[in-house]
Amino acid sequence: MLERYSQDSLTFKKVEEILNSNLPDNLKSAASKVIEDRPLSREEIVYLLGLKDSVERKYLFDLASCVRHDNVGDTIFIKGIIEFSNYCKRDCLYCGIRSSNKVPRYRMKEDEIVKTAIEAANYGVDTIILQSGEDPFYTTEIIERIIKKIRETTHRAVSLSIGEREPEEFEIFKKAGASKYLLKQETVNKKIFEMVHGDDYERRIFLIKTLVSLKYITGGGDIIGLPGQTLEDIADDIIFMREAGIKMAGIGPFIPARGTPLENYPTGSAEITLNAYACTRLMIPLIQLPTTTALGTIDKNLQYKAFDAGCNVIMVNFTPDTYRSNYRIYDNKRKVEFYETVRDLSKMNRRLTALVKARSSS
Ligand code: SAM
Repeated sequence: MLERYSQDSLTFKKVEEILNSNLPDNLKSAASKVIEDRPLSREEIVYLLGLKDSVERKYLFDLASCVRHDNVGDTIFIKGIIEFSNYCKRDCLYCGIRSSNKVPRYRMKEDEIVKTAIEAANYGVDTIILQSGEDPFYTTEIIERIIKKIRETTHRAVSLSIGEREPEEFEIFKKAGASKYLLKQETVNKKIFEMVHGDDYERRIFLIKTLVSLKYITGGGDIIGLPGQTLEDIADDIIFMREAGIKMAGIGPFIPARGTPLENYPTGSAEITLNAYACTRLMIPLIQLPTTTALGTIDKNLQYKAFDAGCNVIMVNFTPDTYRSNYRIYDNKRKVEFYETVRDLSKMNRRLTALVKARSSS
């Protein structure tokens, strides 16, 4: 069998450096596992998630960056997200668009969604992400039609983030041309999941596994800083994603949202979120790992910092301005804007996908 890391790979050299340093033994044992291509144990992940020392965190992030480099390269993928409806039938405690929260509601029309997708494609994004609350107004047939039209007109990958649907619908959407589906587990702690999501944990996990079995590029992920959540829970999330065959992970800090039962609950830790990105990269080397808007809402520079911790994707927002401010899943949600993102990343000498580079300079 081909070994994942040759002796002249960046990962091999970084692991050697760690092993020859006077860093703590726990960090060394984690590094040895990475080079042997063995999964980290729950205890090792918990240890890494809890790292606070800046030198030790730098080694963790550098190792994650080397693993990214050796497995998927250093190109940053810019994807376009369209938040097409903020109606939601669910009442998740954390979410600002939960059904019982009073926010002005909107629904984009089919043609408007397709037109916005074409605009996003013209900017050079390789994937169109369609996100919404769980809104049954958009029937199976409507979603199917939208996917087909976007595929026909843009030829870009279509990613869905529309919450729980029936397995038969997942099949129909896949046939229509959707290749990716984001359904975060939010937390694998069943008690916390059922408290904050108000819904059946087993069904969530069943649906995520169904997406994997239907050969979607399946996105999981969690919220960092949910009430009662421990580092062990976050480690379990990462282990779950590895074992379930998750290929993308949306990991973001909890941000309080006005009018929700958690509005006075503290913001999740940016430090743990960055550590979680690095651990996820070590555990699932090929993963598509976005740096999340939630992290950028705490501080834009933190969102960019995540590219030093193993991330390789950023989602820019194409929701038309008239609707965007009402997609208030949490307060002061950052608008990740295309040109600003390209400019900032170019200044940092980040390599962007060719299509984005070409379109942004034309
Ligand atoms: N309704 C779909 C679903 O639940 O999968 C997609 C839309 S939902 C608004 C997208 C993501 O927003 C959720 O998976 C959740 O992790 C995140 N989210 C919602 N409220 C949040 C908050 N207050 N802080 C951080 N993330 C939040």
